[in-house]
Amino acid sequence: MEKELVSSKNHTVYIAIGSNIGDKQQNLLTAIEEIQIMIGPVTEISSFFENEAQGFKSKNIFVNACLICKTHLNPLATLKELENIEKKMGRKKTNKAYKDRIIDLDIIFFDNLIYKSEKLTIPHKEYKNRSFVLIPLKELSPFLEK
Ligand code: ADP
Ligand code: MG
Repeated sequence: MEKELVSSKNHTVYIAIGSNIGDKQQNLLTAIEEIQIMIGPVTEISSFFENEAQGFKSKNIFVNACLICKTHLNPLATLKELENIEKKMGRKKTNKAYKDRIIDLDIIFFDNLIYKSEKLTIPHKEYKNRSFVLIPLKELSPFLEK
């Protein structure tokens, strides 16, 4: 029983990562390292893809990827850790949601959870409209529609 309770807390999280400032590939690699330390083991990483900025104008091309991570944290604690990593890596939060960023870390799926609060929506409410999420996500999750 005890064992079952513990293992039931080993969640599977799909995280989308992106960067369009500085050494973008290195920024993704640094973020992946931090996720391993602060959130839990990263079990799969998609290819890294280059994409034009979507939703806002920028001359800076993005590098995007998705990964799967195992964690004992709950969804809000996972988001908090992702925000801490963004901050630690030097991301400045502004009121403007869509702008250049050193690193962006978004939760796409958390187990099969459906969740909505002011701070967090799971599945991520925009992922279906964002090819920079869908393309790497499909490498990890063959059951998603092509
Ligand atoms: P975006 O990721 O849409 O480009 P931000 O990174 O600035 O923009 O995030 C804006 C807000 O989205 C954050 O303050 C966060 O609380 C909220 N948010 C809601 N759902 C999620 C999610 N699934 N993953 C990450 N952030 C989320
Ligand atoms: Mg974000």
